[in-house]
Amino acid sequence: MGDLRELYQEMILDHGKHPRNCRALDGPHHEADGHNPLCGDRLKVFARLDGDKITEVSFQGNGCAISMASASMMTQALEGKTLDEATQLLGEFTRLVRGEGSQDPETLGKLVVFGGVSEFPVRVKCATLPWHTLKSALSKDAKPVSTE
Ligand code: ZN
Repeated sequence: MGDLRELYQEMILDHGKHPRNCRALDGPHHEADGHNPLCGDRLKVFARLDGDKITEVSFQGNGCAISMASASMMTQALEGKTLDEATQLLGEFTRLVRGEGSQDPETLGKLVVFGGVSEFPVRVKCATLPWHTLKSALSKDAKPVSTE
């Protein structure tokens, strides 16, 4: 497991340093702001829908490596997913980082790298912030999200 853990940490650090889809979306899209006062993570999440399918997700913001990596990998994981699939993935991801088990590795895909976060309770909100912000963006009344 040692090697695997190292590989996971490398992937998180890589996404944290070089986040993917780190930009605003033009044109009609959904967006919401998220803030984690505990750590100082702040981000804005953008999403474009075609019917109930997510065609594009992006984000902008500043925060720790965990929050940035989570946002980056979320944008990749959600592209092409339906709203139902996105909700399911949010649930699986939240259980994963809280260490609550019953994860479905096939649903999570690459996101399993965040499993180690469950050992650092103070980081759980960093990892889930982008996901809750996205959920708010996709709901009709997008309100700013605060983890407090
Ligand atoms: Zn953080």
